[in-house]
Amino acid sequence: MKLTFWGTRGSIPSPGKGREYYGGNTTCVEIRPDSGTQIIIDAGTGIRELGNDMLKNKSVAQDSYLLFTHFHWDHIQGLPFFVPAYISGNNFKVMGVEKDREKLKEIISNQMKVPYFPVTLDTMQNQLSFLELFPDGTEIGDTRINYIKTNHPQDTLAFRFEKNGRIITFMTDCELNSGAKDARPLEFFAEFCKDSDFLIVDAQFTQDELPNRFGWGHSSNMDALRLAELSCSKNLILFHHDPAHNDEFIDRMVRDVISAANEKKLDINCFAARDYESIST
Ligand SMILES: [Zn+2]
Ligand SMILES: [Zn+2]
Repeated sequence: MKLTFWGTRGSIPSPGKGREYYGGNTTCVEIRPDSGTQIIIDAGTGIRELGNDMLKNKSVAQDSYLLFTHFHWDHIQGLPFFVPAYISGNNFKVMGVEKDREKLKEIISNQMKVPYFPVTLDTMQNQLSFLELFPDGTEIGDTRINYIKTNHPQDTLAFRFEKNGRIITFMTDCELNSGAKDARPLEFFAEFCKDSDFLIVDAQFTQDELPNRFGWGHSSNMDALRLAELSCSKNLILFHHDPAHNDEFIDRMVRDVISAANEKKLDINCFAARDYESIST
């Protein structure tokens, strides 16, 4: 599977000086299990770059799927600028959970209504179809997709992708260590992420920043490491970077995770996701 990060920032796009390395686009991740299949997760501003790349390299896949973790702005705001979805003959299968499937079209069309945007979702409608994501797993070719709900202010999904024994788990916008009474525990998430080859996790804050941000639905870099440890994952990728953090700050967050992992003698490779980076899994 080929994994590409097109947008790795949380909350709001944050380009600018000192952010050239990790980038400023909001969430969009692409997985290509094989050359004919494409899975796009979220449509933050990074999806605009993905669309441009697909046109430039003539890499529109035969079979394309679009999954949404949830519908906060930073996960949908790029969709109106995703050019391949306007081109006749292309097809993107938008996958939603049963309860939300009917609502899915309405939710993503709301941001393209007057006076928010000059072109409505109808302009894309021949290129979009809406399919169901099943609670006990959905097969796309020989890739299996499972999901669970995270700890976040609105219903948010985390996804696990498995192909030929290789596992990528994507868990952003999740407060792993929430103190809320009805919150899902860390162990629950660890079970879902078990044995991930690549574990992409919300690590928006440092441990010091977290106390003032309980209930916001995000985690620290150290929470992410604890999840990687409990789930016996091999590669930990820090994700959903805070708009206030520049490259230097994110580098420090990575270094802190690496030294904590070394101290505990954990065999986990840790790094932070950056816009435009591709990884062969
Ligand atoms: Zn977010
Ligand atoms: Zn969110």
